[in-house]
Amino acid sequence: NKSDTIYKNFLSLLEKENLQSDVQVLKTGCFGFCEQGPIVKVLPDESFYVQVKPEDAEGIVNEHLIKGRPVSNLLYNKEQSKEFAKVDDIEFYQKQFRVVLRNCGFINPEDINEYIARDGYAALEKALFEMSPDDIIEELKISGLRGRGGAGFPTWRKWAFSKAVESDVKYIVCNADEGDPGAYMDRSVLEGDPHSVLEAMTIAAKAVGATKGFIYVRAEYPLAIHRLKVAIKQSREMGLLGEDIMGSGFSFDIEIRLGAGAFVCGEETALLASIEGSRGTPRPRPPFPAVKGLWGKPTVINNVETLANIPVIITRGGKWFSGIGTETSKGTKVFALTGKINNSGLVEVPMGTPLRDIVFNIGGGIPNGKKFKAVQTGGPSGGVITEEYLDTPIDYENLQKLGSIMGSGGMIVMDEDDCMVNVAKFYLGFTVDESCGKCSPCRIGGRKLYNLLDKISKGNGTMEDLETIKEIGHTMQKASLCGLGQTAPNPVLSTMRYFEDEYKAHIIDKT
Ligand code: SF4
Repeated sequence: NKSDTIYKNFLSLLEKENLQSDVQVLKTGCFGFCEQGPIVKVLPDESFYVQVKPEDAEGIVNEHLIKGRPVSNLLYNKEQSKEFAKVDDIEFYQKQFRVVLRNCGFINPEDINEYIARDGYAALEKALFEMSPDDIIEELKISGLRGRGGAGFPTWRKWAFSKAVESDVKYIVCNADEGDPGAYMDRSVLEGDPHSVLEAMTIAAKAVGATKGFIYVRAEYPLAIHRLKVAIKQSREMGLLGEDIMGSGFSFDIEIRLGAGAFVCGEETALLASIEGSRGTPRPRPPFPAVKGLWGKPTVINNVETLANIPVIITRGGKWFSGIGTETSKGTKVFALTGKINNSGLVEVPMGTPLRDIVFNIGGGIPNGKKFKAVQTGGPSGGVITEEYLDTPIDYENLQKLGSIMGSGGMIVMDEDDCMVNVAKFYLGFTVDESCGKCSPCRIGGRKLYNLLDKISKGNGTMEDLETIKEIGHTMQKASLCGLGQTAPNPVLSTMRYFEDEYKAHIIDKT
């Protein structure tokens, strides 16, 4: 809302100064540096004004635009107040490598021409006219791209499974049902660069032979939905979506479906049930959706971040992409860095970047001189990583070894004041609330675990309770039907692994 008022103030001030034909005011997607928002960037010098208030628009117009002087008190690097501080001067951005977020904050997401001006739809053109379906899948295989929604399954394999099935109808689904507490990577991509997702879905459709796509997006993301609608309309008008795309003879179209905020609908079989109009509950796999998905037809489901990588892989090549990251985890990962951290925001780094770099260099460390305690990755399905593992290169395998997961990319930093029993209780409370109740290990086990944690946190626990927690947790991991129940015990098992003393202290001290 504040940003909207700033935008309107600029428009009226420019009109008053008769500058409306010389200066354009554009809305962008998120710049990523949330701690410093609202942000105003002035081009062409790229000066970067932070924590801008609606009344600051006047100073920027009078000083910067009319007199050519920076408004020093609004610059991020105030010591550089004599010059225009630029994005490239800011450490938060210098240490990042932006592939997924390449256009966020740089283009007006409601203008397809701005996307096209930055190589948008060049990958689709290449895929339609220069590549066979097998070529596209091979390029993805070379890239090593793995699903960014959590499990890290190789994207090319999903596509190849689906392509191999003979079917009159096939579907492409974008999973934009981002529901982890503290995660907003997908929302930012949809708000800041919606065409990258549409372009990737159309490339996927060409690769597997699909004719119809769905974007399943949370109804709580109204701006993302609006921008997707605008993007779909503009793509259709320009012949980039719909019948006979670019005159290639290939046809594919996309519809938006709104989710009602159930976390379990991020699980792919529950998501498909929801699109079909049924209650969003998971079903056993196999068959996997790539073979038997929507209405029983082969369906490729990829999440937003996975898709946003694909146009770049096609234009720059799988080899280029595979040169970023680690042996097993290629490319970059976007994290939503929040919690007890100085620079909260969206951070995109090459896979393999140590957590220490993310927390202390890009994130600027812990506020108020407090001591770092742990960072939770993977949201309610993940676990904590402690100080001694901060130098571990982040990739799918290393996080798993530490008892956490990559997840979709939520990263919540905790300081010395945070109680790990309460942290585990918070996450478990979330998954218990969100459990669909279909299978008993999750429905009953989750509730029992939560009650035990509640008892311990209130000082009424016993040492036997700790053993019972481990037993129930391991049973849930093995016996639950879907990922929600299988991973729900992770935060409690992980905090017990690294902070068992804290659990014992609650029991012994009865505090
Ligand atoms: Fe539902 Fe939980 Fe079973 Fe998944 S694990 S099907 S969320 S009850």
